[in-house]
Amino acid sequence: MKIQSILVTLVVACAFLQSAYAKLNVVATLADYAAVAREIGGDKVEVTSLAKPTEDPHFVDARPSFVVKLRTADVLIEGGAELEVGWLPPLLQNARNEKIENGKPGRVSASQGIRLLDIPATLSRAAGDVHASGNPHFMVDPIIAKAIAQHIAQSFAAVDPANAAFYQANYAKFEAAINARLQDWGRALLPYKDQQLAAYHDSWVYFAHRFGFVIETFLEPKPGIPPSPSHLAEVITKMKSEHVKAIMVEPFQNRKIAEKVASSTGAQVVDAAQFPGALPNADTYIAHIDALVGRVIAALK
Ligand SMILES: [Zn+2]
Repeated sequence: MKIQSILVTLVVACAFLQSAYAKLNVVATLADYAAVAREIGGDKVEVTSLAKPTEDPHFVDARPSFVVKLRTADVLIEGGAELEVGWLPPLLQNARNEKIENGKPGRVSASQGIRLLDIPATLSRAAGDVHASGNPHFMVDPIIAKAIAQHIAQSFAAVDPANAAFYQANYAKFEAAINARLQDWGRALLPYKDQQLAAYHDSWVYFAHRFGFVIETFLEPKPGIPPSPSHLAEVITKMKSEHVKAIMVEPFQNRKIAEKVASSTGAQVVDAAQFPGALPNADTYIAHIDALVGRVIAALK
């Protein structure tokens, strides 16, 4: 009897310790939210990104393991701007996790309070445009990333109030680090202000807006629609007449098509990426923007 009661005490104590020290289980739809969540949550959170950093965020291959992850999540971070609309809703339906429902503290809808760019006057998905409610690729703007880091810190603090001060302090550190780098990025890019770049997909409007570029030539005729020969012929004419020197291409896009356009126009292909972890030595958000800025400068020099 004595041993039994000791065992029961031990089991209860272990359960208590586990709940007191259990990490928050955080699921992010995309690698950029995951990278910021790691900065804010530190060792108090376990962060999983559903999409790989090299995957097209519009068309993520939804695996059954995603449902399991969502079912046990304490916090879900998603964009809320239709970037994941093609794959996330059915997963959430299957996961049936109240903690991460819309409006709950465990749900971070990143775009809340962010002014989306390129909201069309008339909403129409009929033509296959995947940006029908505005451009959802806002995380490449470091100032927007700060706002989203704050949303994440608020959510973590609400779900895990015991560590609220820790999350707040990490947010302050992230904010200060971005502020310190913003001046360097701005200074490094200043000589290339107002330069035109082309891109495979319209992923860079917020980056361009922040740092003074113009990116309005796209190899895709519409976001999500593959390039056609007639559209590419127009792109080549436009790039030649406007002296566009670089084409930004992401890991999941057809680099061969970009190379063809580059060789017809004398432009360079820039191997860019929206997501931390996609480029070498660029796992954190700041290292990622560093790498991106470096690659754009190398192409425009
Ligand atoms: Zn897009």
